[in-house]
Parts: sequence; C-alpha cells; structure tokens
Amino acid sequence: MTKGEDLFKKITAHCKEYGFIFPSSEIYDGLSAVYDYGHNGTELKNNIKDYWWKSMVQYHENIVGLDSAIFMHPAVWKASGHVDAFNDPLIDNKDSKKRYRADVLIEDHIAKLEDKINKEVAKASKRFGDSFDEVMFRNTNPRVQANLNKIEEIKSRFVPAMEQGKLDEIKALIEELEIACPVSGSRNWTDVRQFNLMFSTKMGSSADSASEIYLRPETAQGIFVNYLNVQKTGRKKLPFGIAQIGKAFRNEIIARQFIFRMREFEQMEMQFFVRPGDEHKWYEYWKDERMRWHMAMGIPESHFRIHKHDKLAHYANAAVDIEFDFPFGFRELEGIHSRTDFDLGAHQKHSGKKLQYFDPETRESYVPYVVETSLGLDRLFLAIVSYAYTEETLEDGSERVVMKIPPALAPTKVAVLPLVKKDGLPEKGREVFDMLKYDFSCQYEEKDAIGRRYRRQDAAGTPYCITIDHETLENNTVTVRERDSMKQERVDIERIAEIVRERTVLRPAKRP
Ligand code: ATP
Repeated sequence: MTKGEDLFKKITAHCKEYGFIFPSSEIYDGLSAVYDYGHNGTELKNNIKDYWWKSMVQYHENIVGLDSAIFMHPAVWKASGHVDAFNDPLIDNKDSKKRYRADVLIEDHIAKLEDKINKEVAKASKRFGDSFDEVMFRNTNPRVQANLNKIEEIKSRFVPAMEQGKLDEIKALIEELEIACPVSGSRNWTDVRQFNLMFSTKMGSSADSASEIYLRPETAQGIFVNYLNVQKTGRKKLPFGIAQIGKAFRNEIIARQFIFRMREFEQMEMQFFVRPGDEHKWYEYWKDERMRWHMAMGIPESHFRIHKHDKLAHYANAAVDIEFDFPFGFRELEGIHSRTDFDLGAHQKHSGKKLQYFDPETRESYVPYVVETSLGLDRLFLAIVSYAYTEETLEDGSERVVMKIPPALAPTKVAVLPLVKKDGLPEKGREVFDMLKYDFSCQYEEKDAIGRRYRRQDAAGTPYCITIDHETLENNTVTVRERDSMKQERVDIERIAEIVRERTVLRPAKRP
C-alpha cells in the first residue's frame, strides 16, 4: 500500500469513528458511492455552505440566490445536451469482469508518464543543487523529452477521439498503450461503449415513456431556466449572478475514492450573466476570485493548483479546474467555465420562449453569455478533512490525532470541560455552556479524565477547550486551550466569547 493509500484509509476510518461520514445503509452492507453525514460532518458541511453562500451572495451585491427543484421538465435535459451527450465511455476487462472509464484509463496512463518526468526533474534538482535550471533540463534531457513526446502523441489522438465520440479510436489507444487491468493484469478488453450518467424515474401513475423524468445531474440548469424570472423580479442589470446549493445525481461508472466521486452529491454553483464579448474578462475575474476564496480558508497555497482544460466541453470557450492535492494526488475540486450563450440559447430554441436581455446602455437585445463557478461541496469537505488529518507524537512520547480544520469551519467551536465531576465544577461548567451556546456551536463534556477529553476534541477538530477548575470558583477565570499549539491561557469568563469570536470568525476573501 502506498503512503497516500494508507493515509486515505486512515482518514476514511477517522471520519466514521468521529461522526463525520458513515456509509449509507451500513447495516445492509452499504450502498455503493452513497454516504451519510454524521453529527460532526453535518456541522462542517453547513459551515462550508455558509462560508460559500456569504462570500457569493451576501458579499456581492449583484449575486442573488435560488433554490430550484431537483425534478425538472424532461425537455430541459434534451436542450442542455445531457440526454444525448452526458455520457462516459466505459470498457470492461473480460477476465476480472471489472468495469472502467476508458478515458480515465488513458488519463491515468498520461499521469504515470508525467510522474516519471517529475521524478527525473526531482532527481536532477537534488544532484545539481542551486545551479539547477529546470526549464533547460526539461528542454534537453533525452528521457524527459521522450516522455513529453509520448504524452503529446497520446493527447493528439485522445482529445479529438473524445470530442468526436470515436470509441474505436479510444479502444485502439488502450490496446496500443498496452494498458492492463489493475485487478487481473490482463489486456483482454471489451469494446468501448457510451453510458449515460443520468438517473431516471417515472413521474405520476402513467407508465408511458413521456412521463420519464431525470434526477438532475447538475444544479446549473435550474438556474438557466429561471434566468428571466430572477432577472425581472430581482430587477437585475448585467452583469449579475445567480447562486445555488443543491443535490445532484450521477450514475458514476467507477464509484471509488470515498466521497470524491459519489452517485448523490451536492454542488455549489454560481452562473454569472455577462454581455457577449465581456466573458473573458469575467472568466479571469472569477478564476482569481475563486482561488482567493480557497486561500482565505487558511489551507496553504501549495495544496491547490490550476489545471487548464485540453479538451473543452461543447458549450465552453474557456475552462479551468482548481485542483486539490488529495491523498491520491491532484484532482478536480472546482470548475470555472466560460459557457458562452450555449445554455440560454438552447433553452430559448427548445422552449420557444425569448431569454433575451435588453441592454439599456447599448439599446440592444441579446442572449447573455455565462461564466460559471462549479464547486463540489463533498469534494471540498474531503479536501478539508484530508488537509486537517494530522498524526502527532507529543513531547512526552504519546500520540494524538488532531483535525486541524480551519477554526471558522470547525464543527464545534468550543468545548466546556469541568476538570472533575464534583465540587460544584459541573454546575459552573453548565453555566458557561449556557452563556456561550447561543453564539457558538458548543459541547459540554464531563466524562473521563481531562486528557482524554482533550484528545477527543482534538480528533473532532474543536479549536478551543474551556476548562473549569477550582480556581474558577474563586476568581471567575478559566483556561482556554488552543487545539493546534495545545497552549493554555487563563482568562476571565467574561472574555471567553470575545476571544472565541475573534479567533473563529469567517473572514471574507479580500481583493488586493
Ligand atoms: P469529474 O471529471 O471528476 O467527473 P466533472 O468535470 O464531470 O467531474 P463538473 O460537471 O464540472 O464535474 O461538476 C462540477 C463539480 O461538481 C466538480 O468540480 C466536482 O467538485 C463536483 N462533482 C462532480 N461529480 C461529482 C461526483 N460524482 N461526486 C462528488 N462531486 C462531484
């Protein structure tokens, strides 16, 4: 098992043990790629949503919220292209009977070649020290060059094959690259087939096919079909945005990696409507703004990177992903896409209803262009817990697991802990708890030795523990223990709220 796999296993187990995430229907052996959030998970998830909502809606006077239904008219998904094109190419290995996404097999192969290049670079950098010129090395080293050429060659066939849905070509690539099934080790593959990712169900009692409806695979279409309602009732002028948080459903072919790829998940999306021609300016703006938002959480920048799309979706004229360094490598966390007038144009055509904007400045009517930011709530949750999970050996040789969740997002902000369960300390503790509970998510705990209670709070990511001791009864002071440094300070009870607020407040991402 690699270091990353081992860490990922520990994080998954920790999430279950401390009430962050449970497998769905676990007593029936679970349901693949579906998960439930426990008491700590729900709080963390709500705090993430709150941070996003405030940053997008409250702090931007030209962005408003929406909560559209999961079920929508089936024609929506025809117009959006999902009925015909929301497919993943799948392939089966005949020996192991395992199913894979054909594009992912090829992308993993490319990632392995990139890994080889990075290893060469790291080795050379170590050998040459300060005098190392990475650009020159990449341009001249024959092994690096050979692998770069291989990648270019693969992409020059893979990208058009994906764009044009040439399934034979994708299979030919898998065979030529000698990609083997990780389970059976064989190269005995079936043909590549398209698989639509939308879940469908029947609405009402009639069984004819006209009543077939879909569970939405993205929240964005709910925004597009409400564009005019919001623009008119909100009296919005371009540019303006509509933000929404909600469930989405995809019948993913490969469901692994815990909550990274789920069949039921939540998205936080914002569609920003702009004048045609302005889209590149706003695309750059939102790319920067979204990175700044991630940075403001307090996770170091080195955990994030921007990945420009090689292959643009049919609706986009520019797209990047913000990727996060998960225990299994850098993967997509959020997408920022310049979607042109594709969606509103398609809905205008299919519905026969005008979705135009009358621009009072230019005195023209046109279909607005859209720049969207699309973030997976569960993926951000996974990014945060992956970053936060820390194993430490303390000075006395003991070990602790601490979840270094950014304090503003922590499920519990303060735990109130009487040192012992007697001498009036529990009563005083309850008093302090009651004083704080209206302002912060708090916990009161009196069971077990204080050291064990600190460890439990560390493992749940609680940034502050307030300890009530005998001195509290004498002079109304308590100790405040900070999670990461474990430092304790003695403060007056009256000051607890002010201290906790100051150190756990949500700070917006400021523009420079
Ligand atoms: P991927 O390539 O990983 O399948 P995608 O490019 O299809 O993702 P989008 O359609 O752009 O994803 O969706 C926007 C965001 O929604 C993604 O960046 C991701 O954070 C989240 N997301 C998409 N699919 C899932 C899923 N199955 N489980 C959890 N989150 C998801």
